[in-house]
Amino acid sequence: MPSYREFHQRSIEQPDEFWAEQARLIDWETPPRRICDNDRPPFTRWFGGGRTNLCHNAVDRHLAERGGQPALIHVSTETGREETLTFAQLHEQVQLSAAMLRGLGVGKGDRVLIYMPMVPEAVVAMLACARIGAIHSVVFGGFASGSLATRIEDAAPRVVVSADAGSRGGKVIAYKPLLDEAIRLSTFKPESVLLLDRGLAPVERVPGRDHDWGALAARHAGDTVACEWLDATDVSYTMYTSGTTGRPKGVQRDVGGYAVALAASMKHIFQGEAGQTFFCTSDIGWVVGHSYIVYGPLIAGMATILYEGLPVRPDAGIWWSLVEKYRVGVMFSAPTAIRVLKKHDAALMKRHDLSSLRALFLAGEPLDEPTARWISGELGVPVIDNYWQTETGWPILTIANGVEPRPSRLGSPGVPMYGWKVKLLDSISGEELDGPDQKGVLAIELPTPPGFMQTVWRDDERFVDTYWKTIPGRMVYSTFDWAIRDADGYYYILGRTDDVINVAGHRLGTREIEECICRHPAVAEVAVVGVADALKGQVAVAFAVPRDASAVADEASRLRLEGEIMKVVDERLGALARPARVRFVSLLPKTRSGKLLRRAIQAVCEGRDPGDLTTIEDPGALQQIRELLQP
Ligand code: AMP
Repeated sequence: MPSYREFHQRSIEQPDEFWAEQARLIDWETPPRRICDNDRPPFTRWFGGGRTNLCHNAVDRHLAERGGQPALIHVSTETGREETLTFAQLHEQVQLSAAMLRGLGVGKGDRVLIYMPMVPEAVVAMLACARIGAIHSVVFGGFASGSLATRIEDAAPRVVVSADAGSRGGKVIAYKPLLDEAIRLSTFKPESVLLLDRGLAPVERVPGRDHDWGALAARHAGDTVACEWLDATDVSYTMYTSGTTGRPKGVQRDVGGYAVALAASMKHIFQGEAGQTFFCTSDIGWVVGHSYIVYGPLIAGMATILYEGLPVRPDAGIWWSLVEKYRVGVMFSAPTAIRVLKKHDAALMKRHDLSSLRALFLAGEPLDEPTARWISGELGVPVIDNYWQTETGWPILTIANGVEPRPSRLGSPGVPMYGWKVKLLDSISGEELDGPDQKGVLAIELPTPPGFMQTVWRDDERFVDTYWKTIPGRMVYSTFDWAIRDADGYYYILGRTDDVINVAGHRLGTREIEECICRHPAVAEVAVVGVADALKGQVAVAFAVPRDASAVADEASRLRLEGEIMKVVDERLGALARPARVRFVSLLPKTRSGKLLRRAIQAVCEGRDPGDLTTIEDPGALQQIRELLQP
């Protein structure tokens, strides 16, 4: 067995040989002829000439050996629904859903937008799209009509798959009115809406456009739909993510590279074995859900748990009861969730037999030391941090215990994974920082490995301009994260270089929230910053300048306007983006050229030194914020 260092080195020095070997982890209808194609940088293409299908690899290829074994385990503590689909049953359901989509005119390359709660039908719809070569675009169910509208507009889906409602903490959230409003707001109108009726909220169907899942399923009962063999470089899905502008980017992913990347990660990183159970507590609306609720575990022949509900309801032992009941081998969650559990009685965990569990992976935000120590102490299994992004599809930094067991280091997600040419660069000069503990921008050199985004949906120029032109003099991918590396090669993430914030592991663009708040007629201007929070990592805090100062003359009117602004954000973007506080000021700190000094505001909010303020237009603006924050 090679050491991890040799393994990584080979992936960088001999990418063709290395990835040709990994490609054998999946089934191909036609094996690839060209492994890595980097002829048109920065658009790396993988497995050219190869033909495969994600759904075939996730479902069909397991039928012979494990058709009767669990594939999709659904547990909802919101509705009480709990069911297990075997690979054979999943196969049947996916074909049925594929037939329904085909019946609605969906073909290869068409987009299907999925706006669904955590129900099996959502996973089935994703796999059905993959089966027929349609491009799915899953939108997180917690987003509201404004966010949904921008995604419908950009993806231009032929069909939207949705449901009557989601439920969170026992509170029903009707999706259909949000969807109707989103379609009204969007200039693009989908031809059809396929609606799952969970019996949670009344639904009004638009005649001719809206179809009932149950009725359509009855019409197509027993239909079979074969997998469409796709080019490895065809598009499998798009997934929208926030950046520095108010307009989310459609991260576009391929078919073959993604399948191989996930299969390899299940082996080398997650050590998931066919027949075992994988439990990822994320949501299908996020990249972690795509990679490690749906495709990764199923490609590996594992059962995957799809959980709808809170981690603390009916009590904080619920996840551990599922680990016991379904003999979970590998679990994947986010630091925020663990911090939530940490506030509860650890006896709720101890009550369960967790002997099946071999490792807990955490990602999405920095893993703080107290949380890491607490959970590893309680579980007694390795707790493995992993760092990646929507754009990268799978971890850039972690520990590949499947290649060579290595200890994790507190505070560090780990070392560069195979295939990733990770560099630390000086943000001004672009020079590589070789020495230990030097802070630089974490960047990736070409070729990017399989699974990495292909481009921004329908906008190659935006892909190049956003990610590949930010470091002077070099065509490298910027992660927009600051990092340092210690003498042994372990990396430490220090936070974003841009205006993206991370709330409970979810990435939000401050510009997007600012644009939304500015819709309130009483607001002239606003700055949104991320402020450190013990539970959520960061929370958004808004500083707004009212059009008319008399609107915030007393405490009652300030609170009223704060509430109204929060409601605007709830209604357009969703509660996730709602600022924890909206404060009112008469001016915002800006440079003389008019650029908002968000970083200085953030520093003041966190009680830190705001740094160099020579470019500030009016220092009084920061002083106002300081005074506002006085207890
Ligand atoms: P997303 O695309 O929503 O997954 O967000 C990606 C961003 O989350 C990264 O650029 C980091 O800023 C942050 N992030 C993700 N995982 C980690 C981690 N393990 N440690 C520190 N930050 C992380």
